[in-house]
Amino acid sequence: MTDSKPFAPPEFLPGWVWLVGAGPGDPGLLTLLALHALEHADVVVYDALVDERVLAMAAPTAERIYAGKRGGKPSPSQPDISDRLVRLAREGNRVLRLKGGDPFVFGRGGEEALALVAAGVKFRVVPGVSAGIGGLAYAGIPVTHRDVNSAVTFVTGHNAGGEVPDGLDWPALARGSPVLVFYMALKHLAPIRDRLIAAGRKADDPVAIVCKAATEQQTVLETTLARCAERAVEAGVEPPAIVVIGDAVRLRGGLDWLGALERGRVLDADPLGLKRRQEAG
Ligand code: SAH
Repeated sequence: MTDSKPFAPPEFLPGWVWLVGAGPGDPGLLTLLALHALEHADVVVYDALVDERVLAMAAPTAERIYAGKRGGKPSPSQPDISDRLVRLAREGNRVLRLKGGDPFVFGRGGEEALALVAAGVKFRVVPGVSAGIGGLAYAGIPVTHRDVNSAVTFVTGHNAGGEVPDGLDWPALARGSPVLVFYMALKHLAPIRDRLIAAGRKADDPVAIVCKAATEQQTVLETTLARCAERAVEAGVEPPAIVVIGDAVRLRGGLDWLGALERGRVLDADPLGLKRRQEAG
């Protein structure tokens, strides 16, 4: 082993912005750099998806500024948020821009960082655990598994105008990616389902809808592609939710570790039925 120094986080300097991912919920999923930033920030500018328990870890003296939607009021526009970050940094604050999941995964972190570059404000990026990976792990669904998929695709179900994104190559998604992970897809589940099936995806492909993943309110609905939109409505599924499509969902039968822990769920060591098939065949 090389002689290495113990880890010491870089100093959070006044006038800097740290663009930090807070993970999907469980504060235990914060990085050491995120924790350091929380402890040293003068101002925390946070989004709707940041868990309250994470926010509570900021210094009591830190100013907290909410930059998301609340009570149906329109959210601050992206330029407004970016301008605010620039202003706060120029005033000499240590500015923590805290985002749910990972700031660079469907989180507009790139846009905000480019605004900082344009304004000459110094910044650091701290990745976080994205809901589409870590949130699914809390549901016992690995986004890759050797017997299931060598590729996974992350898709947004929503464009800037709130519609199903144009320009997605549906046949390529339907046929080319064994596992599809959709963010922001709850509202448009029916048209997404219709497009995937029309493009050749199996109607009985397994689907899981993981709501409020890695929070105390996590719920998981297992269904099929054909029925997912209707089942989500019947079950009263609420955002935020990740929708995962593909055989990875079947692994949950063996890997729902949280269900085993909390409800004594009995896990199946052969959730894909590979050994059973071998023995039978
Ligand atoms: N940057 C975030 C994603 C922001 S987009 C990340 O990397 O996770 C917002 C979408 O993320 C939500 O609509 C939902 O699809 C997903 N999401 C975020 N947190 C979630 C959670 N705790 N449980 C389920 N989905 C979540």
